[in-house]
Amino acid sequence: MNTQTHPLMELSKRPPVVMARGAGSYLWDNYGTRYLDFIQGWAVNCLGHSPPAITEAITDQLSRVLNIGPAYRNANALVLAERLAQASGFEQVFFASSGVEANEAAIKLARKWGQKHKQGAYEIITARDSFHGRTLAMTSATGKPGFEDAFPPKVSGFPKVTYGDIAALQNAVGPNTVGVLLEPVQGEAGVVMPPPGYLRQVRELCDEAGILMLVDEVQTGMGRLGPLFAHLEDGLRADIMTLGKGLGGGVPLSAMLARNRVACFDHGDHGSTFTGHVLGCAAGIAVFDMLTQPSHLAQQAESARHLQRVLTGLAEAAGATLRGRGHLWALVLPQPHAEGIRDRALAQGLLINAARPHVLRLMPALNVAAQDIDDMAELLLPLLSDSAN
Ligand SMILES: *Cc1c(COP(=O)(O)O)cnc(C)c1O
Repeated sequence: MNTQTHPLMELSKRPPVVMARGAGSYLWDNYGTRYLDFIQGWAVNCLGHSPPAITEAITDQLSRVLNIGPAYRNANALVLAERLAQASGFEQVFFASSGVEANEAAIKLARKWGQKHKQGAYEIITARDSFHGRTLAMTSATGKPGFEDAFPPKVSGFPKVTYGDIAALQNAVGPNTVGVLLEPVQGEAGVVMPPPGYLRQVRELCDEAGILMLVDEVQTGMGRLGPLFAHLEDGLRADIMTLGKGLGGGVPLSAMLARNRVACFDHGDHGSTFTGHVLGCAAGIAVFDMLTQPSHLAQQAESARHLQRVLTGLAEAAGATLRGRGHLWALVLPQPHAEGIRDRALAQGLLINAARPHVLRLMPALNVAAQDIDDMAELLLPLLSDSAN
């Protein structure tokens, strides 16, 4: 099993290339070979590689202080929390470094709320095929096949239901239920969309049962699906929302946002050495300000339209099905050839993700240029056509 020859622990099969430099939609390896990047740090680099706005913001911050720490306030965390609260309608914000930490904070807050207001109810219903991260508790919360039982004993209190099935969710709610945790779109499952109206039904069910609605927007948030926060689109709002990935535009930054009525942590209940990191929040402010600028929003919308148009053509030509929105898309292939296509794409200078054996996933920068989208399609079409035969 352990045949690796390098001390860097091997946790997944990676190609031997060593990436060295990036700009916009491109990465270069250490031989100078160029790759068109439709993975972008796993849906993280929402403004592409090394955008000047982030470079300037963190360089400016570095010239003053690198780290202040959790014992004192800093202006960047205060400003970013205000902007996120104002844009989302959630009143309180906790910052962390990774998506999974934001989810852990969300679960702890919901359980605390259950202790205080729901006679100790602690169960949080999650969905099959969901993904919420890789700590022990989030491995148990995650509904990816094989995950839940991988590191026994699992953390209990996460019953699972089929995503999109409101009746199943209704049946799963019991006296120990304190909340429901869902992704607005299941990204890691291969961009699985819920039936129309599902999130509103979940909101109504939570209101009727007096339980909390938690949304994991680590992948869908910060404009990935179009709007800044995907689940707010039709006027509803969860009680707790988590953000990560795009929030820092490439710098590790995540957040857990809560409504006032559920934000019941007492001093000492939660925290982190890196919470509200001044450098991460500097990047977060730069990202937020760019993503909310009218000129960017127009460019992002045009880019999304072009991407959808091109992918629709690609799917038709290749006999594949297309699903997704904004800048998060999956091509569902007629054959389970996703990994082979991904490897051949890499050899030709295109980076894409094989989310499942039948599913290729694309998560480019939100400002990816029309020419880059056209180049992606030109590289991918022959690979899709070859593999269909
Ligand atoms: C990526 C992801 C996570 C985990 O984020 P990390 O930063 O890897 O901890 C959690 N939830 C969703 C929906 C994700 O896509």
